[in-house]
Amino acid sequence: RGQMCKHALKENLLLLLTILGVGLGILMGFLMRMANLSDENIDYFSFPGELFIRMLKSMILPLILCSIISALAALDAKTSGRLGGRAVAYYAGTTLIAVIIGIILVVSIHPGKGDPSKIERAGSSRRVSAADSFLDLIRNMFPDNIAQACFQSYNTQIVAQTKPNPAYTPPNITATAAAFTTMMTNVTAIPEEITVYVKQGGYLNRLNVLGIITFSIFFGVVLGRMGEKGKPLVQVFTIFNDCIMTLVYLIMWYSPIGIMFLIAGKIMKMIDPLKLVGQLGMYMVTVIVGLAIHGFIILPGLYLIFTRKNPFKYIAGIGQALVTAFGTASSSATLPVTIRCLEDKNGVDPRVARLVLPVGATINMDGTALYEAVASIFIAQVNGITLNFGQIVAISVTATAASVGAAGIPSAGLITMVIVLTAVGLPIEDITLLFAIDWLLDRFRTATNVLGDSIGAGIIDHNVRGTLPPLDKKYEEAMMGR
Ligand code: ASP
Repeated sequence: RGQMCKHALKENLLLLLTILGVGLGILMGFLMRMANLSDENIDYFSFPGELFIRMLKSMILPLILCSIISALAALDAKTSGRLGGRAVAYYAGTTLIAVIIGIILVVSIHPGKGDPSKIERAGSSRRVSAADSFLDLIRNMFPDNIAQACFQSYNTQIVAQTKPNPAYTPPNITATAAAFTTMMTNVTAIPEEITVYVKQGGYLNRLNVLGIITFSIFFGVVLGRMGEKGKPLVQVFTIFNDCIMTLVYLIMWYSPIGIMFLIAGKIMKMIDPLKLVGQLGMYMVTVIVGLAIHGFIILPGLYLIFTRKNPFKYIAGIGQALVTAFGTASSSATLPVTIRCLEDKNGVDPRVARLVLPVGATINMDGTALYEAVASIFIAQVNGITLNFGQIVAISVTATAASVGAAGIPSAGLITMVIVLTAVGLPIEDITLLFAIDWLLDRFRTATNVLGDSIGAGIIDHNVRGTLPPLDKKYEEAMMGR
């Protein structure tokens, strides 16, 4: 028995340390709040956390490229088609369920009733039209220059900033590209207090994950079809992948410290929690309850139905990924850890994990979809607007689209929410209502996003297990032999 305990402790040491890091981070954050440091000094203070995110992020590009290519090259076209089809069906289904849970909760809890002037606003709002965001999504899928895609992605945005003039009502931006042109020609008519600039198909300095994924998928399929001739290159990608995964393992041991500082820094910067009573507090509760229902009941239930295996044992296996998601608020940064957990602890076939997870981390965001639905209906409630059935349907569709379009980076969901608000004509400026607490909700929804991807990979793995060609001995050694 003692031996077993020791073994369990050794197996889970990193996870325990990381959870301890979260606890200490919270404690340290609250203690350090008393020091009243400036934002700049808080950034210096949480530098060890920034380093952690930087290290994880540096893994994303090589990891996505190698994992997708090596996985696809090891499968025939029929099998990979089947894998892809099931993944998409799972993503669409679970995202929609998440949205519906969100809508039911926000309508029944009704967190938005009460005096709107009591809510703290922070920052400025960004405007993005639905049509242009959609085009950006497609643009990003087809990068014109693969090297450039490694550091730039497209992003059309209208940004309204600086002191808002209370006497001025911003023009109503409809969801068409034409409105942008009108907006542009009207720029001179806008009071000086608000600077508006339009960047259509402009660049954002950010890794274009989606573009890299599309490229890798096509490349992997073609490489797989080359047969013998392509083998050496397949091996190169597999070995490269193996190296990266070992690096990921080393970085993971830094997570307790990294996450501790990340969380402490956020707590030092947050608004006074006592201000969270009332609408904003209820809104927070609604989102968290929704995420909990989705994460603890729906997803495990689906896993149980499809695999007949214990879902909570499976979830325990991805504990490290979930805590990392909570600590970093980024599914992309967590991706390397998620892949490792699934392969090492949950025994998911590496070809499935490496194909399904990178795509899932980028487009499958259950937590974000649920949040977008709750947040937009909350904004309607705060403004005393009653939504009709058609508008609610529009919210569910656009919330799903907005979650697909959101990148796996902190607060991405907050920005794509403009798509949802524009589609049903809700005031975009009110996004600023949500800024103050987004850092916390973002962490919960990112953990739900990662959970959704992992459960999906587990279900698909179970589903295709018998039909996959046996792992090539060499390939298996390279993939598993860490
Ligand atoms: N931070 C989330 C993620 O990376 C996206 C969001 O803001 O909802 O999954």
